[in-house]
Amino acid sequence: MGLLALGTALEWPEAKKKADQVRQWGIEQLLANWRRAKGKERDALLWGDEVEYLVVALDDAAKKARLSLAQAEILKSLARDEALWTGGSGSDGEHGDHVGEKPPHFHPEFGRFMLEATPGEPWGIGFKDLLKVESNMKWRREVAKAHMAPNESPITLTTFPRLGTKDDYIQPYYPPSGPALRSQFVPDEIANPHIRFPTLAANIRSRRGRKVELNVPVFKDQNTPSPFKDPTVNYDLHQWPEDADVRNGAAKDDHVYMDAMAFGMGSCCLQITFQAKNMTEGRKLYDQLSPLGPILLALTAATPIYKGFLVDTDVRWNQIGAAVDDRTPEELGEAPLKNDRWRIPKSRYASNSTYISQDPRLRKEYLDPDLVVDEDIKKKLIDGGMDDQLATHFAHLFIRDPLVIFSEDLEELDLHKGDHFENLQSTNWQHMRFKPPPSDKDDIGWRVEFRSMEIQITDFENAAFSIFIVLITRAILSFDLNFYLPIPRTTENMETAHARNAVLDSKFYFRKDPFGRRAPRHAAQHSSHGSTFSSTTSSAVNTPPPSPPLGPVETEYELMTIAEIVNGCPDGFPGLIPLVESYLNSVNVDVETRCFLASYLDLIRKRADGTLWTGAKWIREFVAKHPSYKHDSVVSEEITYDLVKAVEEVTAKEGKNGSIGWELLRGRKN
Ligand code: ADP
Ligand code: MG
Ligand code: MG
Ligand code: MG
Repeated sequence: MGLLALGTALEWPEAKKKADQVRQWGIEQLLANWRRAKGKERDALLWGDEVEYLVVALDDAAKKARLSLAQAEILKSLARDEALWTGGSGSDGEHGDHVGEKPPHFHPEFGRFMLEATPGEPWGIGFKDLLKVESNMKWRREVAKAHMAPNESPITLTTFPRLGTKDDYIQPYYPPSGPALRSQFVPDEIANPHIRFPTLAANIRSRRGRKVELNVPVFKDQNTPSPFKDPTVNYDLHQWPEDADVRNGAAKDDHVYMDAMAFGMGSCCLQITFQAKNMTEGRKLYDQLSPLGPILLALTAATPIYKGFLVDTDVRWNQIGAAVDDRTPEELGEAPLKNDRWRIPKSRYASNSTYISQDPRLRKEYLDPDLVVDEDIKKKLIDGGMDDQLATHFAHLFIRDPLVIFSEDLEELDLHKGDHFENLQSTNWQHMRFKPPPSDKDDIGWRVEFRSMEIQITDFENAAFSIFIVLITRAILSFDLNFYLPIPRTTENMETAHARNAVLDSKFYFRKDPFGRRAPRHAAQHSSHGSTFSSTTSSAVNTPPPSPPLGPVETEYELMTIAEIVNGCPDGFPGLIPLVESYLNSVNVDVETRCFLASYLDLIRKRADGTLWTGAKWIREFVAKHPSYKHDSVVSEEITYDLVKAVEEVTAKEGKNGSIGWELLRGRKN
């Protein structure tokens, strides 16, 4: 996340008054940029991953693992080092195994205990680049670690197991209940102090009219009290009006209760961004990757602990959704609509609700019947020349208010910038993001970001999932695959992915035939099986035989296990891995590369069929087998220390291509 310019950030009632202006200017900027960039062609197929870390500090004497809040110091030190690298021996200096690779980029994140790292430049499309990903990820970890205190390490757990338990980060001690978060569990200082972040958190809370509310079902073990009443909740605080939230029922029985943005936005994920060769291809990738979001969320499940308790869910997604849910009671449907414009079914952080490709296979039945759009904004976009479908997408994103507004930015509209557009775009955290080219850079094209995956403990796994998604995009484009599913089914799948062990125990809606027919009016299009990356173009030169009418949409998909979706089922869906293998067979890949890729695909295959465990399962087993665990759902400081140490060891020892790390995570060995 790039930090926007500094200035005077408006507090909520003031920001709300300027919301319309920001939206209008944002739309003007979008239109100006869209006109400039819509015809961009032949952009290179590039892609890049983002890996997020928790910075933990181990206190071996006290046997405690805590978060370090040293983000700013670490980033400063990294930036000094990068300047040395890039200034000294040229950008491709001597980096041991990484000759020719640019030094990684490090970025701040919401949590002051977090760090994000991306490759020094995006990966190219060649297979050789795929082979560099894992070692580059390991390099990023080493570089980050070299800029930390000796007892600190970057680890890739999605959430810190004891965040919010009051001895969860290293000194200095800040009492909870600061003016921005007003949390009874974490201080404001847990968040990045850059004015953008406390303003974001405070304005979400103000707009909502109460604190954010996260209630995660507790995992009921044999000694867990029933009903479980979160013992860490204090009902007797009277510093802020929001302290009354819990007296008004905010904390639910049988749930772990949390009350601040940090509990969601403090989670780490693995995101992949692709550059398409043009806007049409970007829109196609956006649509086709969308139904895969929940599947990959379940496959990467790694979040079984919150605030010191085992929970009954395996993934982070909904918790982040709740942590930034700024909807008012009227928008939530809890009060009659009076001041607000509409009921809004989803949080700003949620699965996406639009399809944007002008693909003849996209049936109107796939669209979300509950989609809310700002009709005035849509009209403005259409009047400005944008097609209905893309206008609908942006008019949906723009139903939200901008949350962080700097008064200096409202003095003059600059159509060569994209700041007001980005204000709305970057606070719509959906599982897919369609990224237009930045308005001031000509060398960047239309990009699509895949955002649902959980960060994995080892870089072998992170590389495997990144590479898998890259290969899926190649298969989608090469075979013109059709994964279209009605959007409400993807929304349901996203919920399904939360269940404990959903990867093995749950079924997900998925399209049966990925080579699915086009709608009859476009039947002239020929199949592009085995073609290169180019997308098909419609041609009506040869009159096609009339195709039979399409059946009901419901016959196109069915419930499948993740194993069936990933590995295929006889007489049914061919499977994502077999599709990727067919793609690899259709291009010439040398044996060595193919073997290398096979080890990554094998992880995905075995994760799906249960041979290998998810991170969530591995963590659960670790806790269950810990000698001090009392089978009461409590993840104590001692267990957390041992868990973090184990995770650190796995990542430190992990050898090339996942050896050792993978073995340790196999689970079967415990
Ligand atoms: P954000 O946080 O807004 O999603 P980041 O800059 O943190 O964006 O990460 C974007 C990712 O996209 C990085 O992995 C980067 O290498 C990659 N990337 C950068 N430029 C391009 C491009 N033109 N095409 C594809 N990927 C790109
Ligand atoms: Mg990030
Ligand atoms: Mg980023
Ligand atoms: Mg991102």
